[in-house]
Amino acid sequence: MDTIAIIGAGPSGIMAALTTKTKDNRVILIEKNKVIGQKLSITGSGRCNITNLDNKEDFFAKIPENSKFFYSAFAKFSNYDFIDYLENIGIPLKYEGQKAYPKNESAQKTVNTFIKLLEEKNVEIRLNEELIDFEIDNKSNTVTSITTTKTKEHIDKLIITTGGLSYCKNSTFSLLAKKGIQITQLYPSLVSIETIYDYSNLSGISIKNVSVRANIDGKKYLTSGDMLFTQKGLSGPAIMDMSSYIVKFQDLKTDTSSNHKNLTYKGKNLYISIDFMPYISKNQLEDIIFDSSKKALKTKLSAYLPERMLKFLLEKYENTDINNMKKEEKEKLLNIFKNYKIAIKNFSNIKSAIVTKGGVSLNQISPSTMQFKNIQNLYFAGECLDIDALTGGYNLQIAFSTGYLAGSSSKL
Ligand SMILES: Cc1cc2nc3c(=O)[nH]c(=O)nc-3n(C[C@H](O)[C@H](O)[C@H](O)COP(=O)(O)OP(=O)(O)OC[C@H]3O[C@@H](n4cnc5c(N)ncnc54)[C@H](O)[C@@H]3O)c2cc1C
Repeated sequence: MDTIAIIGAGPSGIMAALTTKTKDNRVILIEKNKVIGQKLSITGSGRCNITNLDNKEDFFAKIPENSKFFYSAFAKFSNYDFIDYLENIGIPLKYEGQKAYPKNESAQKTVNTFIKLLEEKNVEIRLNEELIDFEIDNKSNTVTSITTTKTKEHIDKLIITTGGLSYCKNSTFSLLAKKGIQITQLYPSLVSIETIYDYSNLSGISIKNVSVRANIDGKKYLTSGDMLFTQKGLSGPAIMDMSSYIVKFQDLKTDTSSNHKNLTYKGKNLYISIDFMPYISKNQLEDIIFDSSKKALKTKLSAYLPERMLKFLLEKYENTDINNMKKEEKEKLLNIFKNYKIAIKNFSNIKSAIVTKGGVSLNQISPSTMQFKNIQNLYFAGECLDIDALTGGYNLQIAFSTGYLAGSSSKL
C-alpha cells in the first residue's frame, strides 16, 4: 500500500485528496490548523464566491500573469465541470451576475460537505499537525519521507497545497526555499490601497460601478466595479482588482521598510485615476453640468454620486460661476469626475490580502500534471503557486482545478 501525503487542507488540498485514488493507497491530509478549510469558510464574506459563469476567454482575462500555465488544469476541470461537480455532491448554486455562490450562501456548510466527502473516502485527516521538513533522495529524485510536528514517516507521493501568506501566521515558503525550490517575490494582492492624501473624512462612502485606470511604463490597466473610501484610503472590488495589476510596480526597498515612507516606482509616486461615472461620456457630463438651468452644481449631479462625495469634490467650486468658465477650467471640472487622480502611499499588508501574488516558480512545475519537474513524486497546487487572479471566484477555481490535477494525475 502506498502513502500519499497532502499538506494543507484548503480548497486545493481538499480537492487533491478527493481526486487521489484511495484504492490500494493510504491518503493522509495534514493541516496545521485545528479545522479543515479555515480560509474557505470565510470566503465571499462567509457566502463563498466559489466560481463563476465566465467563458474560457473571459476567465483567462482575469488572470493578470502566467495564465497559460493554467490551460491544462482548466481543460481537465473547468468552472463548468466544477459547477456540475458541486451540484452532484449536494451543493446547488445561485448566481449573481457571473458570480456563483452556494444556494445556502454558507461557506462553512460548503466546507462541511467537503469534510463529509473526505471521510466517506477514508482520507486520514490529521489536524493540528504541521509539515516542518521533508527528505529528498538525490539519487532517485524522489521525496522519501516527511517530518511533521508530530512524527516522521515514509511517503510515496507528496502534494503540497499550503497556500500563501495572506490570512496566515507563518508560511511554508521558507521550508520550500531551503529545499531548493525557487520562490518568486511575494506581494499582497486583492488588497486595499493606502493613499497619500487623507480621505478619512470620506470613510464609509461607497460608490457603485466606477472605472479605475493606471498607466505604468506605457501599459494601461483598467478595472471596474464598486469602490469604498476607508480610514486609510480606498477599497472595494474595483480597487482590489487594480492592486493585482499594479502591486508589483514598487520599489522593494521602500516596500520592506518599516517606516511610513510613500511607496515609489522608479523614484516616482504611483497613481490611479478614477472615472466616477463611466456609464456616461464626458460630453454627456458636460451637457448635464453646463445646461441652461440655474440649479446648483451639486443638485445637477445628485443622481450620480452621494451627497457627501459631491460636497468634497466640488468644495472649491462653491462660489464659482460655472457659466463663465474658460475651456481649460471646464475640462478641469469634468476631470474631477472622469479622471480623478489619486497617489498611492502603500498597499495594505500581505496578511490582510485576499491572495498572495508570487509563490513556487512555475517553470519548475509541469502544467499538465502539477508535478515538480525535478522530483518525480512531488506535486504542488493552489495559492502556493505563482498564479493568482482578480476577485469573482477565480482564485477558488484555480485552487480547485490545480488540486484536481495534482490529485488525479499521479500514477499512484
Ligand atoms: C477573506 C478572504 C475572502 C476570500 N474570498 C474568496 C472568494 O469569495 N472567492 C475566491 O475565489 N477566492 C476567495 N479568497 C481566496 C481563496 O480563499 C484562496 O484563493 C484559496 O483559499 C486558496 O486555496 P489553497 O488551498 O491553495 O490555500 P489555503 O486555503 O490557504 O489553504 C492552505 C492550507 O495549508 C495549511 N498549511 C500551510 N502550511 C502548512 C504546513 N506546513 N503544514 C500543514 N498545513 C499547512 C494552512 O493552514 C491552510 O489551511 C478569499 C480569501 C480571503 C482571505
